[in-house]
Amino acid sequence: MGGTFDPIHHGHLVAASEVQAQFGLEQVVFVPTGQPWQKSHEAVSPAEDRYLMTVIATASNPRFLVSRVDIDRGGPTYTADTLTDLREQYPDADLYFITGADALEQILSWHRVDELFDLAHFIGVTRPGYSLNGAHLPAGAVSLVEIPAMAISSTGCRDRVRAGLPVWYLVPDGIVQYITKRGLYREVTPEWGP
Ligand code: ATP
Ligand code: MG
Repeated sequence: MGGTFDPIHHGHLVAASEVQAQFGLEQVVFVPTGQPWQKSHEAVSPAEDRYLMTVIATASNPRFLVSRVDIDRGGPTYTADTLTDLREQYPDADLYFITGADALEQILSWHRVDELFDLAHFIGVTRPGYSLNGAHLPAGAVSLVEIPAMAISSTGCRDRVRAGLPVWYLVPDGIVQYITKRGLYREVTPEWGP
């Protein structure tokens, strides 16, 4: 499951848990993006902060793990590269790529889209505010899955922090604490450091 995870929230975690259970997946690998090319006009938090938040939020689930492939590759993140790297790391695995209804809608605009469906089977999950429809995608390439509705977005969480509103219960407790500790999403974000 790829994402900016700025910050990771319970919508991401429920999606991953639900797909893991419904498809009987051995593991769900969360892959925080390097520089997301769709978001190049927006300020994105440092990769190390997004990586650490993803680790903190997933640490207690034995089936969840976090990959640094996109962060360590550097440059803009393309899902075709993510899947190619994961295929090298797990040569015998069947790869599934989990994506919300909003991202699925945009998939045809993704870089090297013709390769994507050979690299993994795509799983599109419901997300409040978006309609889940794979009709424009190649037949058989995508499974559509209904998951418990979580009307949470990272954008909404960032806006709440900036406005001084709580994000308790929208994100895991450790993420509330990490956001405070690092001063994320305030007007001025401190530089990464001790
Ligand atoms: P932002 O508002 O910054 O875009 P986001 O909440 O959309 O953040 P992303 O990191 O962009 O989170 O999303 C990663 C993946 O998780 C995408 O495939 C997205 O569709 C999916 N996703 C995010 N939030 C939800 C949710 N509440 N329910 C289902 N899927 C979600
Ligand atoms: Mg998003």
